[in-house]
Amino acid sequence: MKVYLSFFLLSAALVAYMWRDTFDPESVRGARVLITGASSGIGEQMAYHYAKFGAQIIITARRLEALKKVAQKCVKLGAQKMMYMTGDMSDPADPERVVKYAVEKLGGLDFLVLNHVGNTNVEFWNRDADHVRSLMQVNFVSYTQMTAAALPVLETSAGSIIVVSSMAGKLASPFVAPYTSTKFAMNGFFGAMQSELAIQKSNVSVSIMILGLIDTESAMNKIRGFSTMTAYPASEAALSIIKAGASRQKEAYYPWFHYFTCLINNVFPFLKDLVLSGLSMDNKD
Ligand code: NAP
Repeated sequence: MKVYLSFFLLSAALVAYMWRDTFDPESVRGARVLITGASSGIGEQMAYHYAKFGAQIIITARRLEALKKVAQKCVKLGAQKMMYMTGDMSDPADPERVVKYAVEKLGGLDFLVLNHVGNTNVEFWNRDADHVRSLMQVNFVSYTQMTAAALPVLETSAGSIIVVSSMAGKLASPFVAPYTSTKFAMNGFFGAMQSELAIQKSNVSVSIMILGLIDTESAMNKIRGFSTMTAYPASEAALSIIKAGASRQKEAYYPWFHYFTCLINNVFPFLKDLVLSGLSMDNKD
């Protein structure tokens, strides 16, 4: 009994040590940050946090008017520099164009925050392989293109790549087969990148952020009448992403308990269908 208790206490202490908050807002003051998918949702919230911390920011997405509004608010919140540019990540030329613009305007880059996500329906897979291909370009291939374009400048600044992923990239998720595929690809690619950069003794860090359900407008619209799962605040999710990147964590979870969801899934994979039983097409309005 004593052995089990000691093991439990030691594990709890280790987990508390691993998850202690080491974030220093000063570490991002003046930092040169490019955030994708920042016209709404989590990307927008990240822009506001970085602005409050006094970063130099470029935001990008497709909708110009929405970007302008976010940029105006960032200026009020205290951004040292604030710029925006439109870009469509379904266009294979745009990822590199956006990075080049950001590097030119900011004179380098400290954080590349890859967050944008293309639209997809929540439904049984409708056998549309073309949609899988186009979503792969937006959600995954464009991430690798931006990484390729940014790596040389990130090497000179000992910078960081922050990748916004999902529990759907850890647990193959029904009703979003194309989306889940893009997130698995993302986790695989950037996990491999972490190892390659370590082998090459690179000073560039890659942080992969695993998010649960977050209360952004687009996510809420998609699951309405479909799931009763709790959604967590986008502003908190955004802050936890920034902290993970600033502290160069390899992988971080928001909400934190999804770390254990993944652990349990790895040990007892058959439990997944039970966990996801709250999702049912029969519940859809
Ligand atoms: P969101 O509110 O729908 O925002 C998506 C952003 O991506 C928007 O700024 C959108 O702007 C941009 N975007 C869409 N298509 C684009 C394209 N072709 N080219 C360039 N930009 C494009 O999404 P979110 O809920 O904040 O999600 C942000 C990230 O968190 C995503 O990577 C998502 O997978 C991840 N995540 C979210 C949840 C959740 O429950 N919300 C859970 C797990 C993971 P424009 O329309 O102006 O282009």
